[in-house]
Amino acid sequence: MTPPAPPFTPFLGARIAVVGLGRAGLPAALRLVDWGAEVEAWDDGEAQRRTAAAAGLTLRDPAEGRFRADALLLSPGIPHLIPRAHAAAQAARTAGAPILCDVEFLFRAVLAAQSRARFVGVTGTNGKSTTTALIHHLLTEAGREAEVGGNLGPPALSLNILGSEGVYTLEMSSYMLERIATLRFNVAVMLNLSPDHLDRHGDMAGYAAAKARVFARQSHEDVAVLGQDDTMTAAMATGIAARIVPVSALTPQPGGVWAEGRVLRDDAGPILDLRDAPALPGDHNAQNAAAAAAACHALGVSRSDIASGIVTFAGLPHRLERVAEARGVVFVNDSKATNADSAARALAAYDRVVWIAGGEAKDGGIESLAPFFPRVARAFLIGRDAPILARTLAAHGVPHEIAGTLDAAVPAAAAAAFGGAAPVVLLSPACASWDQFTGFDARGNRFRDLARALATTDGRAA
Ligand code: ADP
Repeated sequence: MTPPAPPFTPFLGARIAVVGLGRAGLPAALRLVDWGAEVEAWDDGEAQRRTAAAAGLTLRDPAEGRFRADALLLSPGIPHLIPRAHAAAQAARTAGAPILCDVEFLFRAVLAAQSRARFVGVTGTNGKSTTTALIHHLLTEAGREAEVGGNLGPPALSLNILGSEGVYTLEMSSYMLERIATLRFNVAVMLNLSPDHLDRHGDMAGYAAAKARVFARQSHEDVAVLGQDDTMTAAMATGIAARIVPVSALTPQPGGVWAEGRVLRDDAGPILDLRDAPALPGDHNAQNAAAAAAACHALGVSRSDIASGIVTFAGLPHRLERVAEARGVVFVNDSKATNADSAARALAAYDRVVWIAGGEAKDGGIESLAPFFPRVARAFLIGRDAPILARTLAAHGVPHEIAGTLDAAVPAAAAAAFGGAAPVVLLSPACASWDQFTGFDARGNRFRDLARALATTDGRAA
């Protein structure tokens, strides 16, 4: 009989305060207890505290009395500096304790397990989830032992400890990157940078500095996959110690990976034609595909495995997701497009669409989408700010009507498309969903259900 394996306790004796017990924080606290740490857990919400107590965690507010922990694991959604430091962060800083994210603890646990599993970190303003999922798909299709998580669920501390051949692909938000201390990515991917989250980072320089931490502690043995399609990202090259692999959707990149037309290539020639990858339409996805190919190539995946994996990638829900097809019309769910910038990518990906948009508009509305209006055969508007969007469309002479709800908009849009208006019905709202849904995912799920029901009625379900 083999004796039972000794318990794995990489954090034995460590005192860790965990604040923010949501989707990632609660499993993190439980895992750290499992791994030997003395955990004090806290959340400002009473319901979360109750759930944590029921799960057996010890509750204590680290901001009350003396800060006793060696480190603070602070949920990425809770600010530690700007616009205002949370009391727990303030207490940790005063006590000189580091403020960390869950990926840092995963990294330490993997080292403690004496595994040489590799870490891939993916960041950028847009495309993180798609690129992270694509890299993981390419690795698993190539038969590699791999785990995926981070900002895109599942949370880091719910992943398995991999052996030395394994690869973790982790989506890293700027908030998480501010909270790493020893973590070093063997392959770091930085896609692009545009203004976002400035409420937390102060200004663009602060935001860029947070993103650039994905390259922290890298050496010449590591790889930095660096987007070249915006100047701020390309300029990060100066601070990088790793071997840089440039990627672009637009221009040739000697030594890197790029798209020419829709053909993805590197110095050795064409890798594949992205027209064969239906889940990755648009230039923005060419950037994501180029980055994923570069990252996987650095990890030893062959060019042919990269090509076949990109073709079989199913895409992520709510991002240009093809959900149904009927009478030659494709229904595309891009509910994740909660602002005009994201909707622009979607409109750029199709020549002619029947467009469903609306909800809670962001500052500036949809005026910035005017260059794409010639592609809109007809628009059906939903949600609170439909009248605002209608005014913009009217000013540009785009045929439109206010449908009010998604339930009304989908059949109306389908009828227009079936009548020959366009081969695509696109939900890319350019607006938040909170006025009518619990989130972009609920909105996308409803669209998918409605489109599939229509397609089934039509006898041609996708
Ligand atoms: P993130 O995880 O960074 O939010 P996603 O992969 O979830 O990114 O994509 C969200 C939306 O961002 C997509 O629906 C698309 O509109 C846009 N997008 C995706 N990739 C890119 C990219 N490389 N460049 C610009 N925009 C992109």
